[in-house]
Amino acid sequence: MSTSAVEGTPERDVVVQVTGLRKRFGPVEVLKGVDLTVLHGEVMCIIGPSGSGKSTLLRSMNHLEEIDGGRVELDGELIGYRMRGHRYVTLREKQLAAQRARMGMVFQSFNLFPHMTVMQNITESPTGVLKVPAAEAKSRALALLDRVGLADKANNYPRQLSGGQQQRVAIARALAMQPRVMLFDEPTSALDPELVGEVLDVMKGLAKDGLTMVVVTHEMGFAREVADSLLFMDGGVVVERGNPRDVLLNPQKQRTKDFLSKVL
Ligand code: ADP
Ligand code: MG
Repeated sequence: MSTSAVEGTPERDVVVQVTGLRKRFGPVEVLKGVDLTVLHGEVMCIIGPSGSGKSTLLRSMNHLEEIDGGRVELDGELIGYRMRGHRYVTLREKQLAAQRARMGMVFQSFNLFPHMTVMQNITESPTGVLKVPAAEAKSRALALLDRVGLADKANNYPRQLSGGQQQRVAIARALAMQPRVMLFDEPTSALDPELVGEVLDVMKGLAKDGLTMVVVTHEMGFAREVADSLLFMDGGVVVERGNPRDVLLNPQKQRTKDFLSKVL
């Protein structure tokens, strides 16, 4: 990390910057001012009890949720809004779609299109949104399928695949958009235990290749082994953050200790 010639201007390659993010559902504030910074090539894991706001945080980051305060920036660009004077105005759907294309999202529940083959699932957005020529989209999809260990499944339908295979297709589909960052929301939580490893292995490979990733997970082994940084959330705030080994082995806050004593 270096500092540019311009005094005080950090030259670190910040990909995602979340500042003072607030989100409420009706009267309930579920994000109460969240700050985080994701650097290029960083793997950030987020842990925390159910209901602590982890999914809402990821969904707010690519504007699947309107936010009530703070801001999200991707490569320095405001996500979801533009400024009109001092007011935030929500972007149009087309602009939102363009921004979302730069953030790959992988959900717990795969969300593949059931009526499309694996190949069609992966090429749909690159051809439709990015206007990549069909032949090129197809050859890229095959390379991605190879990367997630499913080169022989291109012509299968999702229902013909195991959960672990479906989730690996979902990862390939997100990667096909060449996102700046991948957001994973408990990608292995819906899987039978024996299928978790194959998905985590793919994610480890992506991390090793330098992909920028934010991963909400209950897989503490993955967090300890792969993450560069770990955030513990509870009650809509980041309670503790740091190097994963420090946070997991030597938590400073009582709430972190209580949570870890239940899951480790
Ligand atoms: P986590 O992913 O950490 O389990 P969530 O972000 O899903 O937590 O949820 C945080 C809180 O927000 C929970 O209390 C949840 O019930 C509430 N919540 C999430 N989505 C909605 C919604 N669409 N409408 C109302 N409440 C919601
Ligand atoms: Mg969740």
